[in-house]
Amino acid sequence: MQHEKALVVFSGGQDSTTCLFWAKQQFSHVEAVTFAYGQRHDAEIEVAKEIAAELDVPHHILDLSLLGQLTSNALTRHDLDIDNADVPNTFVDGRNHLFLSFAAVMAKQLGMHHIVTGVCETDFSGYPDCRDQFIKSLNVTLNLAMDYPFVIDTPLMWLDKKQTWELADRLGAFDYVKERTLTCYNGILGSGCGECPACVLRQNGLDAYEGVRV
Ligand code: ZN
Repeated sequence: MQHEKALVVFSGGQDSTTCLFWAKQQFSHVEAVTFAYGQRHDAEIEVAKEIAAELDVPHHILDLSLLGQLTSNALTRHDLDIDNADVPNTFVDGRNHLFLSFAAVMAKQLGMHHIVTGVCETDFSGYPDCRDQFIKSLNVTLNLAMDYPFVIDTPLMWLDKKQTWELADRLGAFDYVKERTLTCYNGILGSGCGECPACVLRQNGLDAYEGVRV
């Protein structure tokens, strides 16, 4: 895939930053797209911009603020608390479906066939549009919709959080991902607030990996 180009769906978090490093190793040219949809923290967009600039990756920001009109949940409604239900209330129905569809339109315009996304069905969330079956289905749909051969790459699909840290390490990005990415729902960089569900998940994976890291 060395001669091919890829568009990475990029949030500035641990997973998509690891995917960005992965894509830079896999493809001859990589660009990133970040969706602005009324995140709790504008910091997320700023972090994404900084990381893309530091990694020398052309960066597109697409306004999807209409998502906030369609749904109410803890990521876009600042008056709701985040809790730990089976499907957390950070869920926006169809969000990933929409992100990937917009990314596909952009990728085709950029002459790219590969779309890289950090979705994972192993130890997270139960978001239905992050599951492997959905991604494969959407890949077929996008190919038919645009009469264009896309490949949706999901390097994290079957990894748990520990293995995602291991992958970052193998890509030479362990310290970078640990210090420079934003995963925390409270908008705190790196290890974050330590208390929100995203921080707990991230830290558990990090602890597990650091326990076996040589
Ligand atoms: Zn946090």
